[in-house]
Amino acid sequence: MNTERMGELKLWGMQGPAMPDTDPDHTQAALASDALREPARQRKVIHVDMDAFYASVEQRDNPALRGRPVAVGGSRERGVVAAASYEARRFGVHSAMPSVTAKRSCPELVFVKPRFDVYKEVSLQIRAIFSEYTSLIEPLSLDEAYLDVTENLKGVEYATQIAREIRARIWDETSLTASAGISVNKFLSKMASDQNKPNGQFVITPDMAPSFVASLRIGKFHGIGQKTEEKMNRLGIFTGLDLRAKSVDFLRQNFGKSGIYYYWIARGIDERPVQPDRVRKSVGAENTFEHDLSSYEEMTEVLAPIIDKVWNHCARTGIRGRTVTLKVKYQDFQQITRSRSVQDEVQSRDGIARISAELLAGLFPMPRPVRLLGVSLSGLNTEADEVGTDDGPQLSLAF
Ligand SMILES: [Mg+2]
Repeated sequence: MNTERMGELKLWGMQGPAMPDTDPDHTQAALASDALREPARQRKVIHVDMDAFYASVEQRDNPALRGRPVAVGGSRERGVVAAASYEARRFGVHSAMPSVTAKRSCPELVFVKPRFDVYKEVSLQIRAIFSEYTSLIEPLSLDEAYLDVTENLKGVEYATQIAREIRARIWDETSLTASAGISVNKFLSKMASDQNKPNGQFVITPDMAPSFVASLRIGKFHGIGQKTEEKMNRLGIFTGLDLRAKSVDFLRQNFGKSGIYYYWIARGIDERPVQPDRVRKSVGAENTFEHDLSSYEEMTEVLAPIIDKVWNHCARTGIRGRTVTLKVKYQDFQQITRSRSVQDEVQSRDGIARISAELLAGLFPMPRPVRLLGVSLSGLNTEADEVGTDDGPQLSLAF
């Protein structure tokens, strides 16, 4: 199919809930809801998001950094900003930005090395607070989680009150601020948490949902990345209202299975459950090429942006893995993978690049030209942290 050969990099990972193109179950659910049986009971979902998390932790622990533009991440040539303080954001510095660009837009920028063990500790602290309210916690990263509080352990009636209590507790225990979005599903609560940042909260009631979504710029939609945004713009879709005007057939034709997801979120409908045990097993990116490749040089060249994508994700989220897997799809669609595991988690882009290059070299001479290459990381540092409680119900605190 031609659509498979668009040359668009796809990234999957812990960032955000699975989108339809990586989560067929969700698409099934969306399809099923097409012929909506009976209205399910209204849920109460909170999205909690720490404010400028890594940067705030650094400013908390080092008073000299307070009030200054701070970027957590490497300052070197290939460095990427993992998090930017609000002072830095005023200069347009944001996460995933190359450090070189960040320094250019904000010459005063102070680079701080990330301390993921500290972030993870704080993450456990906030998770413990969440778990006093519900066991339905789905983390998106170290600093973000969905909470389903429809049935909450404290019997609090209003989700807005729970959000306020949780944010107050986070402040008391960590001296860090969090923002929260409150609504009836994951999509809307995620959109809501952005509204009153930092240190605020916002509720989207079912009544407000249609107009809220209608006025949203398409690039703001959770689950619509930059490439998709550009494509939508080309199709005349700039806002939620434009998206809602498109038929499900039109969206499916242009965006495949994802089109069905877009169709529903344009209506503020998202039936994905909050999944407490959703633990990603791998983080990876791949690319299908315009032309099939044959030489080692060509292939290492095209691997570079794929590895960048994987590493940028690692830099941003703190995820590290011990196993690097190279995926190769030949011209005839036969697919093979080759993996190598190392003792300690790979800590740099170069580490991933070196192992990928070795795995690739081991495949030469290739039997046929190659149409797709992918690199993924598994054996993630997010898997091993199952924490159980001795007393009371077993709560899933896995990251
Ligand atoms: Mg955050």
